[in-house]
Amino acid sequence: MKRAKAHNSLRCPCCGEIRGPQEQQVFLKQLEAEVPARTYITLSGVWLGNAYWHDAKKGGVDWACDECMQSLRAVKGQPAKQLFYDFAPHFAYFDKTKTCRDCGLEFTFSKAEQLHWYEQLRFWVQAEKVRCGPCQQLKKQHDQFSQLMAANNFTDHEALQEIIAYYLRNKAYAKAKQFLATGRSRFAEGSVEFSRLDTLLNNVRNIEQQVRD
Ligand SMILES: [Zn+2]
Ligand SMILES: [Zn+2]
Repeated sequence: MKRAKAHNSLRCPCCGEIRGPQEQQVFLKQLEAEVPARTYITLSGVWLGNAYWHDAKKGGVDWACDECMQSLRAVKGQPAKQLFYDFAPHFAYFDKTKTCRDCGLEFTFSKAEQLHWYEQLRFWVQAEKVRCGPCQQLKKQHDQFSQLMAANNFTDHEALQEIIAYYLRNKAYAKAKQFLATGRSRFAEGSVEFSRLDTLLNNVRNIEQQVRD
């Protein structure tokens, strides 16, 4: 099969430099060795190159030039370990700057984290990190809180403590008081539940007072 000149220069998405085929050796070897034969384009018996290489030409593939690989700016990806179908696998990982969906600040999606996501956790290759660390943490807390609230019946003391702790962490004193007052109104005065909720309500008032003083 005719193979000459199928691959020419590409812009490395890691360093941004234009690199000729001699500087794409790592990537070209990966294409030969690690991706299925069906990704090779053939037309009238002429080898036009690897489909992923053509995607890379359009800028849609994570790969890195030999220099980026050697300098460890990028680390090699192993497609065989990744979950991919419609999207190209990651041939290389390098730090990416992204904008957080929640706070709008920039954060780094590091190469080590990407490797962990796609080759250890085996997330689909098109999965993207959309939140910075602190916002991810907040979302997790919020999700846990929502679950607690959904299961809440005002009788589980541990769950109540956690709900109150969440409100206090977020300095939502009014919400905490409203929540406990609502709960307290469901029980008869003098019952165990009533006194428990009453105690918690007083605790919240005291904490709020201390914060204000
Ligand atoms: Zn490069
Ligand atoms: Zn954020």
